[in-house]
Amino acid sequence: MTDFTKPRTRKIRILATLGPASESAEAIEALHRAGADAFRINMSHGAQEDKKKLFQHIRALEDKTGRPTTILADLQGPKLRIGTFADGKIELTEGDAFTLDRLDEPGSAARVKLPHKEIFDALAAGNRLLLDDGKIALRITAAGPDRIETRVEVGGALSNRKGVNVPDVAIPMSALTDKDRSDLAFALEQGADWIALSFVQRPEDVAEARRLIGTRAALLAKIEKPSACTRLDEILELSDGVMVARGDLGVELPPEAVPTLQKRIVATARAMGKPVVVATQMLESMILAPTPTRAEVSDVATAVYDGADAIMLSAETAVGDYAVEAVAIMDRIATSVESDPGYGRRVHFTETQPDATTSDAIAASSNSIANTIAVSAIACFTNSGSTARRIARERPSAPLLVLTPQRETARRVGLLWGAYAVVTRDVSDFEEMIAKSKRMALRHGFGGAGERLILIAGVPFGTPGSTNLLHVVTLSGDELKGR
Ligand code: PGA
Ligand code: MN
Repeated sequence: MTDFTKPRTRKIRILATLGPASESAEAIEALHRAGADAFRINMSHGAQEDKKKLFQHIRALEDKTGRPTTILADLQGPKLRIGTFADGKIELTEGDAFTLDRLDEPGSAARVKLPHKEIFDALAAGNRLLLDDGKIALRITAAGPDRIETRVEVGGALSNRKGVNVPDVAIPMSALTDKDRSDLAFALEQGADWIALSFVQRPEDVAEARRLIGTRAALLAKIEKPSACTRLDEILELSDGVMVARGDLGVELPPEAVPTLQKRIVATARAMGKPVVVATQMLESMILAPTPTRAEVSDVATAVYDGADAIMLSAETAVGDYAVEAVAIMDRIATSVESDPGYGRRVHFTETQPDATTSDAIAASSNSIANTIAVSAIACFTNSGSTARRIARERPSAPLLVLTPQRETARRVGLLWGAYAVVTRDVSDFEEMIAKSKRMALRHGFGGAGERLILIAGVPFGTPGSTNLLHVVTLSGDELKGR
């Protein structure tokens, strides 16, 4: 049985999506024990009322294990959908004419309603519409304020309320629909640690969400639109983290564009020191099978070698028949890659130059010390988690023990590469800092007698943004005695 007082040796984090296959307290605990560090609650499906239980189960599990656990609430965003058909579904053949309009009547083989008036004005002849995750492609022949006429380029069966992707233009829609605003208020009230914003198109989308969220949760921008890829730096600047949302990204762009973008998004986020999640179809075949394909194993391994902060499971854990197995396999793949002697070199292939700040100078030094002498952990004291992010950004060889008085910070760093958080009272002097870090390191399994620790803190103690101290100590092993 997993001992939750011991750090997971794995550095990359596993984010598991909850759904019908994993909504009971027992199922969530089983995923956690198998290796899930953080949970995604997908607001696209189901009612708010049913999601309350998920928040409660995760917080109850946290009490049971004593480990801060991260909850990411994922807002649906402006996901476009067609209306319904008189017969539930139709068949489209290449070369057919097909119209999208604003009429309320049920659809036919010739037309269907598109209930999003904003996109009628944004589209022009020559643009494409992709339906049902890109399975059907339509080329627009004429677009007006109430009608979009198209020619079918790739046909197939089309049924009620299938999704619509508009890859060729940025649509004049906010990244937050009325449903998102309501779901956001709900998720914050339930205590979500991170909010994920879907279909971000421009930096203003992130700024708008930030105004609503304030400091109540961290903000993760999902990169799944071509327009977001062209303004990646600005979007990242305003976000606390990003997701390479390969599902929709691979619909809006040709699939062969996705691996290159994954590398670019991961590298950009790492350079900025913002956590990056690689998501979607990582172990897709495990929705129905107990073992993954070799190609899927290789895909997970690639994200680990890229140095991503977290890897995500979607349908595999939300609706799959082998949810626990999927997490367990992901854990094994990541552990195996991280123990490859060539892993460190590959991860550091992505260069992350320190900023000219004291905090980055110290973070970079801790990495260099850990490469020079054997240290069992880098312990840091942090309020906001910022110091932890700057150290994790270095992708040091030693694990990172994050000591924070803020429970929210401890939960938020759950998406951060290599971070193991402990909630503990602030220290007020140097001796106390040393004693506490040694005690915490021993208690949580980071090293034993004779092993060294790097301590990072800010003096005066308890002053945010003051990181200016690096100290190397040796554990005697007796630090827990008499307590
Ligand atoms: P989704 O986002 O699962 O909410 O669609 C991830 C993706 O598109 O890859
Ligand atoms: Mn998506």
